[in-house]
Amino acid sequence: MVHMLKLPDDEHSYWKDTISKSSYPVIEHDIEVDTVIIGGGITGLTAAYLLKESGQTVAVLEKNTIGSGTTGGTTGKVTSQHGLMYAELSERLGKKTALIYAESNQAALKQIAYIITKEKIACQWETEDNYVYTAQSKNIEKFKSEAKVALDLGLPASFEDQLPLPFKIKAAVKFANQAKFHAPNYTKGLAAAVNGSGSYVFEHSNATGISDGSPCQVKSGHATITAKNIIVATKMPTAPLIARAACAIVEYPQTSYIVAGKLDSPMKGMYISPDKGHYSLLPVTDGNQQLLLIGGEKHIPGLGSPSKRFKKLANYAQEHFGISSISYKWKAMDYLAYDELPLIGKMYPWSKHMYTATGFKKWGLSTSMVAGNILRDLILGQQNPWAEVFDSTRLRPITSIPHAAIKYIKS
Ligand SMILES: Cc1cc2nc3c(=O)[nH]c(=O)nc-3n(C[C@H](O)[C@H](O)[C@H](O)COP(=O)(O)OP(=O)(O)OC[C@H]3O[C@@H](n4cnc5c(N)ncnc54)[C@H](O)[C@@H]3O)c2cc1C
Repeated sequence: MVHMLKLPDDEHSYWKDTISKSSYPVIEHDIEVDTVIIGGGITGLTAAYLLKESGQTVAVLEKNTIGSGTTGGTTGKVTSQHGLMYAELSERLGKKTALIYAESNQAALKQIAYIITKEKIACQWETEDNYVYTAQSKNIEKFKSEAKVALDLGLPASFEDQLPLPFKIKAAVKFANQAKFHAPNYTKGLAAAVNGSGSYVFEHSNATGISDGSPCQVKSGHATITAKNIIVATKMPTAPLIARAACAIVEYPQTSYIVAGKLDSPMKGMYISPDKGHYSLLPVTDGNQQLLLIGGEKHIPGLGSPSKRFKKLANYAQEHFGISSISYKWKAMDYLAYDELPLIGKMYPWSKHMYTATGFKKWGLSTSMVAGNILRDLILGQQNPWAEVFDSTRLRPITSIPHAAIKYIKS
C-alpha cells in the first residue's frame, strides 16, 4: 500500500533557503550613473554586469533582496532546449527565427560558464545532458522531427529511445552538455562584481517614480538616481497601472509549482515532458545527499488550488522515484509573450531611453543572458544580430493572442 506523503506546512524555496549571505545598503542619497537597472534578479544583474564590463557605470535597485524574485523560485536548468519547441517554432515563425533562438541561447550557456570562471562565482555549476521525453507512442514521429530540426539548427541534439529513468519512455530528444546551477547564488556573484568603482547595488530600495527622458530619473525613498538609460528588469512593471496594462496586451503570467525530496539512488540528467501527468525533473546535490526537484502544474494565477497541485507533484515523486519525504515546496511565476518569444528592447514603442526584458516563458536562466547582450548593444548603439527577432515593440504578440489561447486550452 502506498502511504500518504507528508508535505511541509510552509512554502520555502530550496534555493532561497541556501542562498549565500551577503547584503547591500538601502539607497539614501542622490547619485548619477550611466544606466539605472530596476530589479535585482538574474535579468537585471546580467545586464548590469555586461554594461559595467563595457565601461558604463550602473546602479541596480532591488525592492527586496538580490535573487529573491522568480530567480529564487526557479528550477535551475541552463539549456537551449526549452521543451519541445524547435520544429514548431521553425514552422510557425520561420527557420531564421528558430536559428537565432537556438544560437543565442546556446551561446548564453558558454557566456555564463565563462563569467562564473572569470568571477569565481560559487554557484554549483555542473554540466548535464538535458532531455525532453514522451511516454506515448503517438508522439514518436514528432520527437524524431524535433531532433532533426534541432540538429539542422546546429544544436547538440540527438534522438533517443531509452533514458536512465526508473520508468519506460517511448522517445526523447537529448541536448548534450547543457548545465544546472544555483541561480540566486550566481546572481549574487554578479552583484558582487557589479558593486564598486562608481557602480552600485541597492537592496530594500523600491523604485517608484520612473521618468524616461534626457536625462532619465528614478526615485526610491528620498533619493533620486539620474541616468542616461533605464532598464526595467522586473518582469511586469509594478506601477503605474498604465504600464501594467500595456504589458498585459503582449504577455501573460503563469504560476508553476515545485516540490523537492531526497533521492535514495543517484540520478544524472535534466528532464521535461510535454505529456500530461509528467513533469520537469532536476537532481540537485545538497551536501552529501541528492534532492530531486519536480516542477509543473502550471496555470494562470488565481485559478485552482495550490495544495492540490503540490500533492499531485508529491504523489508523482513517491510513485516514480520512491521518494518518501518532501523537504521543500514552493511556487513561482513567470511571463510568456503570446507569440512565445521573449520581449527584449525598448519598454514601449515611444520609449526614448527606457528598456525592458521579459516574457522568458520559464526559460529565463539562459535568455536573461541573451537579453543582457541585446540591451548592452542597444544602449551602446552597437549592432546586435539577435535584437530584431526579440524586439519588444514587435506587433506579433498581439496578433498571436488567438494562438496562445488555443494552445493554453489544449494544454
Ligand atoms: C517554477 C519555475 C521554474 C523555472 N525553471 C527554469 C529553469 O529551469 N531554467 C530556466 O532557464 N528558467 C526557468 N524559469 C524561469 C526563470 O527562473 C525566470 O525567467 C527568471 O528567473 C526571471 O528572472 P528576472 O530577473 O527577469 O525576474 P526576477 O527574478 O523576478 O527579478 C525581478 C526583481 O525585480 C524586483 N522588483 C520588482 N519591482 C521592483 C521595483 N519597483 N523596484 C525595485 N525592484 C523591483 C523583484 O523584487 C525581483 O527581485 C523558471 C520559472 C519558474 C516560475
